[in-house]
Amino acid sequence: MEIRRFFVNKSDICGNVVTVRGDEFIHLTKVLRYKVGYKATVCANDGIERLCTVNSIEKDFAVLSVDEIRVADRKSVSLTLYAGLLKNNKLDFAIQKAVELGVDRIIPFTSSNCAENRFSVERANKIALEAAKQCGSAYLSEVKELTDIEEVIRSIPDYDEVLFAYEDEKSNALTDALSQGKNIAVIIGPEGGFQSVEAEKISSAGAKTVTLGRRILRAETASIVACALILNALDR
Ligand code: SAH
Repeated sequence: MEIRRFFVNKSDICGNVVTVRGDEFIHLTKVLRYKVGYKATVCANDGIERLCTVNSIEKDFAVLSVDEIRVADRKSVSLTLYAGLLKNNKLDFAIQKAVELGVDRIIPFTSSNCAENRFSVERANKIALEAAKQCGSAYLSEVKELTDIEEVIRSIPDYDEVLFAYEDEKSNALTDALSQGKNIAVIIGPEGGFQSVEAEKISSAGAKTVTLGRRILRAETASIVACALILNALDR
C-alpha cells in the first residue's frame, strides 16, 4: 500500500501523538479510506517527515502515533514567485507547477494590463497543498493574498535578489543574471505583459530585468520556466 502524506499544524503534534483534522482528515478517511493500522507520512512544514501509524479514527479527527522521524533535505534558497493574475483560473496551473518545482511562496498581483481581478486565496492554497502532497515535499508552499504591482515594487528591497522577467528585454539572460543570493524573488507578468512605466519602476527599485529567450511565452509557461531555471541553478 502506498504511504500517503498529510500536512498538520505544529500544534497538532504532541510528543509522539499527531492529530489530523479538517480537510486533511476528510482526505484521509473519506477520500483515501484510511483505517486503523494504516501508515502515513505526516509533515508540519518544519522539514521533518514523521512516519506514523493510525491509532484511532474519531468523528472529525484521527489520532496517529509517530514510529520514525526523518529530517528532509534543507533547502539552500528561498524562492518567491510574484505572478500576474491570469484569466480563467490559469494561475492554478502555474501554482501547481511552481509548488512541484520547490517555490516557497507565490504572491499573485494585479497590474495595468491585467484582465482579471477575482482571486480565491483559499482555493489557491488547496491547490498548493495538493501539489506538495503529490510531489512528496516536506514543506508547504504558501499562496498569499492578491496584491498589486505597487506593493510588489515596494517589496523588492526585502530580497537578496529580484529577477524581473520582461518580454521586451532582449539580451540579459536569467541564468547569467543570477548571483548567489539566498532569498530570491522572480516577477512574471499577466497575459497583457507590463507597461513600460511599470517596467521602469520595477527596475529602478532594484530588480534585474531578464529575458527568458527569443519567444514570448504564455504567462504560466514563463512562471514555470523561470522557477525551474532559478532552482536548478541554485537549490543544490
Ligand atoms: N502580451 C505580452 C506578453 C506577455 S507574456 C506581449 O505580447 O508582449 C506574460 C509574461 O510572461 C510577461 O510579462 C513576462 O513576465 C513573461 N515572459 C513571457 N515571455 C518572456 C520572455 N521571452 N522573456 C521574459 N519574460 C517573458
